[in-house]
Amino acid sequence: SPMIVSFGEMLIDFVPDVAGVSLAESYAFIKAPGGAPANVACAIAKLGGNAAFIGKVGDDEFGHMLADLLKKSGVNSDGICFDKDARTALAFVTLKADGQREFMFYRSPSADMLLKESELKLDLIKQAKIFHYGSISLISEPCKSAHMAAMKAAKQAGVLLSYDPNVRLPLWPSPEAARDGIKSIWDQADFVKVSDDEVEFLTKGDPKKDDVVMSLWNDNFKLLIVTDGPEGCRYFTKKFKGKVNGYKVKTIDTTGAGDAFVGAFLQAVAKDPNLFNDENKLKEALMFANACGAISTTQKGAIPSLPDKAQAENLIKEAK
Ligand code: ATP
Repeated sequence: SPMIVSFGEMLIDFVPDVAGVSLAESYAFIKAPGGAPANVACAIAKLGGNAAFIGKVGDDEFGHMLADLLKKSGVNSDGICFDKDARTALAFVTLKADGQREFMFYRSPSADMLLKESELKLDLIKQAKIFHYGSISLISEPCKSAHMAAMKAAKQAGVLLSYDPNVRLPLWPSPEAARDGIKSIWDQADFVKVSDDEVEFLTKGDPKKDDVVMSLWNDNFKLLIVTDGPEGCRYFTKKFKGKVNGYKVKTIDTTGAGDAFVGAFLQAVAKDPNLFNDENKLKEALMFANACGAISTTQKGAIPSLPDKAQAENLIKEAK
C-alpha cells in the first residue's frame, strides 16, 4: 500500500506511575516511548499501513531501544540516524489533578535536534504518498534546515504534505517565537490538524467559532481538522465544513490520542487521496480516526494502546 513518511522527533517520555501528581511530587516514573511523529508512524503500521519514520536518536540504549520498537511495530526504519555524541531526548510529562499537562525536557541539545540535511534519506520521501511532520523539528538548527529540505523534496515529488504542529511552548524561546515558527510553514501543507487549544493559542480567539478557525485557513489547504478530545473533531474544506462526534470510552491516559487520530486519518487518505472532495467519505474517515483516538486513551502510554483496524471497527459498530 502507498507509503506514509513521518518526520521528526522520537524520544522517551517519563510518566509518573500514578495519575494526577506534579513532576515534583512524583515518586517513580515509567519509561514510555514517544515523540508525536514516531507515534503517528506506529499508528499507521498498527492499522496495516505502510509507514516509515525519519529522525535522529542518540547512539545509546534509549535510541536503539526506540529504533527496535519501531522496527518491531512494522515501521520502516531506514531513515533513522544515530548521533555519536548527543543523547536521545527525554521528556518528563505529567497530567496534574487539575487536568493541566506539565512538561520538562532534557535537550541540550538532544540527538533529534542534530539531524542534518545531508543525512536525509530523500529517496524514501520521494517515494511516499504523504509526508507528515510537526513543529518541534523547526525549533533549532541543523534540524530546521533538514526539515525544510525534506518538505521541499516532498513537494517537488508531488507528495501530499500533512502538518500537526503539536505546540510545545517550553521548547521555544517565547510564545511569539512559537507562533511565528509554527506559522512559518503554514502555507506548505495540504492538510493541517490542530486541537482546540492550539487554535486558541494561534488565533487568540474562541476555537468554538468557525470564523476563528477559518482565520487559520490557507488557500493551499485541502483540509483543516480541529480535534477536541472526547468531543471528536470538526473539519473545514473549501466546499464544506462540519463536525464528527467522538466516542465514549473508559479513558485512562490521553497521551498520543492526537497521534492515533492522525495516523488513522492519513492511512485513510493514503488509500483514497480524493477523500476530501466527498463529504460522506471524509466523515467516514474521521469517524474511524475518532474511534482510533478514543481507543488509544484506554491504556497507559502512546504506543501500547494504539488500536488495530478490527478494534476501531468494533467500537464504531457498538456505538451505532
Ligand atoms: P494529544 O496531544 O494528547 O496527543 P491532541 O490534543 O492532539 O492529543 P485530542 O483532541 O486530545 O488531540 O484528541 C484527538 C482525538 O482523539 C479526538 O478528536 C478524539 O477523537 C479522540 N479522543 C481524545 N481524547 C478522548 C477521550 N477522552 N475520549 C474519547 N476520545 C478521545
